[in-house]
Amino acid sequence: MGSVPATGRRFFCSGVGVTTYELIRAKREGRELTPAELGAMVRGYLRGDVPDYQMSAFLMAVFFRGMTDAETVALTRLMLESGQTLDLRGIAGIKVDKHSTGGVGDKLSLIVAPIAAAAGVPVPMISGRGLGHTGGTLDKLESIPGMSTDLDPGRFTELVSEVGMAIVGQSPQMAPADRKMYALRDVTATIECRPLIVGSILSKKLAAGLDALVLDVKVGRGAFMKNVESARDLAAGLMSTAAHMGLPARALLTDMESPLGRCVGNALEVRESIEVLRGEGPPEVRELSLALAAQMLVLGGVAREAAEADEIARSTLDGGRALEMFARFVEAQGGDPKVVDRPEMLPRASVAVPVEAREDGNVAAIDALEIGLSAVLLGAGRATLEDELDPAVGIELLATVGKRVARGDAVALVHARDDDSVRAVSGRVERAFSYSDAPVEAPSRLLDTLTDSGGA
Ligand code: URA
Repeated sequence: MGSVPATGRRFFCSGVGVTTYELIRAKREGRELTPAELGAMVRGYLRGDVPDYQMSAFLMAVFFRGMTDAETVALTRLMLESGQTLDLRGIAGIKVDKHSTGGVGDKLSLIVAPIAAAAGVPVPMISGRGLGHTGGTLDKLESIPGMSTDLDPGRFTELVSEVGMAIVGQSPQMAPADRKMYALRDVTATIECRPLIVGSILSKKLAAGLDALVLDVKVGRGAFMKNVESARDLAAGLMSTAAHMGLPARALLTDMESPLGRCVGNALEVRESIEVLRGEGPPEVRELSLALAAQMLVLGGVAREAAEADEIARSTLDGGRALEMFARFVEAQGGDPKVVDRPEMLPRASVAVPVEAREDGNVAAIDALEIGLSAVLLGAGRATLEDELDPAVGIELLATVGKRVARGDAVALVHARDDDSVRAVSGRVERAFSYSDAPVEAPSRLLDTLTDSGGA
């Protein structure tokens, strides 16, 4: 647009002839910035020419004014180009990753990636750590003795090629502008902003050199997006920006009102994932895993359409090939593969204390946010990136939505380091449950499927 008036201030952003101040003001007034102007902000910030306080003001302006599609695409490209992109072209097949916008008890990557990889889709997965009330795949995996998620790009590429999958964290070379801006957003209340989330997620994913992406956009109390409209809007933004960047993508909108499955906490969630890979575990975790894996199989060219993909995903899981893949992946990343036969090898908390139902009734809801925050208090998650985790602690739900309970029945088990930690959260866990006299049907987790064309 180039419509930002110059004011004669002495400090100029490189190449665009206006000051940082003017760019912030332009966004504050709701103007569309050009790729060059956005580049001046993003590159200037990475170089240290734009200080934190100006970037914070800019991000807040974006939070309130939003960005056009063209700006969102430009921002994504700038963040991607701020670092290195892995070259996975030497690996045969269509490389597909899956990304969740974050939830409570969301262990799906641990199940979905092995199903897709065992069915023939190479999975180069870049994952994150838990922050706030949501868990992170890297933290869950690191509860497996010996497991490392810190691989150099060469080793990551080798494992995707030889094993079929690898899961690592974002390296400092991948989308460094996102790393720096995300850390700032985290402390300036600018996380929940569509264009910033879109740019952040897609720049990291594109840096991993993938060919297609399946998105699990979570909705509800335990998610960033609290209602279906905002989740659908985010999913649409992710899909259209991905399309502009030449990345085929599909998105599922999935319910995160109550925790997913029965376990929340790192080792507990690995144990539950292994159960699902063994053909056991909560049906809702199995079904959502299959739905996501099926989308990966379609994008990965292993199946032509949804019904065929569903059949392949089910037979891969039920035939034990996904469990075998999980064991190979664990071993390749330094973990002990015996964990699949002996989940008792995973860290265990010193105490496990039941929480009782405070009334008779049918479990109507379990507040995912409250359970997630309780797990953080126990040490399963972090309040800041520097916090140390305890892999063993967490919350196990003994009653899930729809179950009839009597007052005094155990509805959850708090796995903790000591009795003081249990006392700190048990009231909160108890209050996370609400009850109804009328029968309650557990809602479907899968709310909608968005494909490239926008159809279901
Ligand atoms: N996850 C990300 O990677 N980035 C965001 O901005 C939000 C969620």
